[in-house]
Amino acid sequence: MFQISVTRAHQLEFLFSTEEDALNQPESLRCEVGSLIERRPFNLYGVASRDLEAGKVVLAINNICFFMLYGVASRDLEAGKVVFTESPVAVGPKVDSPPLCLGCYAFVDGSSLCTLCGWPVCGPQCQDSPQHATNECPIFKEAGVKFQSVEDFNIPSPQYECIAPLRALLSRESNLARWNAEVTAMEAHNSKRRETDVWGVNQVNTVDFLRKQCKLADR
Ligand SMILES: [Zn+2]
Ligand SMILES: [Zn+2]
Repeated sequence: MFQISVTRAHQLEFLFSTEEDALNQPESLRCEVGSLIERRPFNLYGVASRDLEAGKVVLAINNICFFMLYGVASRDLEAGKVVFTESPVAVGPKVDSPPLCLGCYAFVDGSSLCTLCGWPVCGPQCQDSPQHATNECPIFKEAGVKFQSVEDFNIPSPQYECIAPLRALLSRESNLARWNAEVTAMEAHNSKRRETDVWGVNQVNTVDFLRKQCKLADR
């Protein structure tokens, strides 16, 4: 529940680590008639929670609060059948996340840090996980950007807001073809988002942080 995926068409609101988790969520946390399920290594699955007729809406996703995206069944679907699969462009901590291990997303208490960049990880295995080791780790190390310890590890830490956007941006370098084909087609809705309170927060915690502290303005 503490991951967010930037996918081909949208930011998914709810992710579950197992199919059982997804199906055990209260109805209010599910998409209209389907559940979003994540299975490692981060493929997303939507599963029909009841029988569906062709032509019915099977999926409704709130796209950054302004528009709804809908998926429609092209044939009859039985409850429990997978209705779509999707591979996220990037995976990372959700906005308003408390401090997490950047390898496996477990909660942390700050006692174990990456020996290269100084951000929380569970240990060597999580330090070496590709999600961390090939994304923010070398950038934080190079720029000397250390995790700033917090008093309470149970409350959201704004330090984590830059991680998922940074991983999404770095995906351009690792897979330019997918970036050009899928990410550039996304709608930014900047004119509407600029009017929201979160615009200024994002500018400071993500844009300025990545460009200035992480020294990425010219990359
Ligand atoms: Zn971990
Ligand atoms: Zn690291």
